[in-house]
Amino acid sequence: MLNLEKSSAAFAEAKTLMPGGVNSPVRSFARVACDPPFIDHAKGSKIYDIDGNEYIDYVGSWGPMIVGHAHPDVVKAIQKAAERGTSYGAPTLLESQLAKKVMELMPSIEKIRMVNSGTEATMSALRVARGYTGRDKIVKFIGCYHGHGDSLLVKAGSGAATFGQPDSPGVTAGTAKDTLTVPYNDVEAFKNLMDTHGDEIAAVIVEPVAGNMGLVLPKQGFLSTLRQETQKHGTVLIFDEVMCGFRVALNGAQAAYGIVPDMTCLGKIIGGGLPVAAYGGKREIMDCVSPIGPVYQAGTLSGNPLAMTAGLATLNIISAEPSWGKADYTRELTIKTKHLLQGIAKAAKDAGVKIQIHQAGSMFGIFFNENDVYDYATSEKSNQEAFGVWFMEMLNQGIYLAPSQFETLFMSGAHSDDDIVKTIDAAEIAMQKVAQF
Ligand code: PMP
Repeated sequence: MLNLEKSSAAFAEAKTLMPGGVNSPVRSFARVACDPPFIDHAKGSKIYDIDGNEYIDYVGSWGPMIVGHAHPDVVKAIQKAAERGTSYGAPTLLESQLAKKVMELMPSIEKIRMVNSGTEATMSALRVARGYTGRDKIVKFIGCYHGHGDSLLVKAGSGAATFGQPDSPGVTAGTAKDTLTVPYNDVEAFKNLMDTHGDEIAAVIVEPVAGNMGLVLPKQGFLSTLRQETQKHGTVLIFDEVMCGFRVALNGAQAAYGIVPDMTCLGKIIGGGLPVAAYGGKREIMDCVSPIGPVYQAGTLSGNPLAMTAGLATLNIISAEPSWGKADYTRELTIKTKHLLQGIAKAAKDAGVKIQIHQAGSMFGIFFNENDVYDYATSEKSNQEAFGVWFMEMLNQGIYLAPSQFETLFMSGAHSDDDIVKTIDAAEIAMQKVAQF
């Protein structure tokens, strides 16, 4: 059994200092049967807690750590930048370098603005879309999470779903009324909504691959319908690729599915583990942003040199030319993820446990569910008790998974074949436990 004595003591103290002992709710492990390990350090595919336990990490800081923890190139870049000063609040070459790199990988972004979190990116993109169209209403999909901006905490996924708070108190009725919601993948409901309200809608925001109700893939025709309908009504289509950008494919879900959005939100990977996010898109729309346009948005630490350099180092690693005989970085991760999932699927089958496994590049998710999962309602029907048994048994065996079925798991370039074998071995034991419970 896992010894979490020091972590539990640290958590008890933290609870007197911070709501739930944490600075972001899902970290509290409140829906699973143990206290959260307090992390001491991380390297490659592994994280280590203050009790001395080692885990193979499939959370990867909820997505950013695509090249693994403390990658030498990223650490070196941050160290070098830190020696030159940690923040200037003035323009730097690094900002343009990261901007160019992101735009080269996602050509739908003609201009970009760096911010500090995914929340800021989506919140700002919506403000710009409203300023650009002169309209108030937005559409989001039930179970998608776009950060904790007021207008997006309506039928939200991720921690909001985990804790049964998809509609947060504190969001005014006036704000909530401008957010219209539709089930993910429901083309008919979306078309009906656009038929009645299309001309009042500033923006449709979507996770093109949804990672906040577990991992849910877009059905054939869903994203193209969003594109057609928004075009028809002069509505801005925003792809929130904060999570799926550079994971579903190097050039994002927009390349994988061949849909060009008007705006894109990015985060996580573009900061290489430091607080960076960005929003960008068509020049005409982005030119609404201050100081050249009237829509105000700013940030003391936006474009921070440490964060820019960490993001740039990370994007350089994943976009480097592959060595001879190798697939590119994201393809390699996709193949590695597939191997892991084949092993987990077999472990479940051998134990007689019915699961749904979803993969999109290096993102993956497992639902304890006999039926297809394609939206929030179907995801919510997954067996929470079975998940709890699976989660605890995997943790006991040193496999660190997200403590909720409404989250996505991530493969990194640092995960070795040995890590994958160990994870599959653990899964065989865990699935037997699930079968017995
Ligand atoms: N959009 C998506 C798709 C996300 O997954 C998240 C966070 N997981 C956010 C926005 C918000 O990002 P942040 O937590 O950096 O505010």
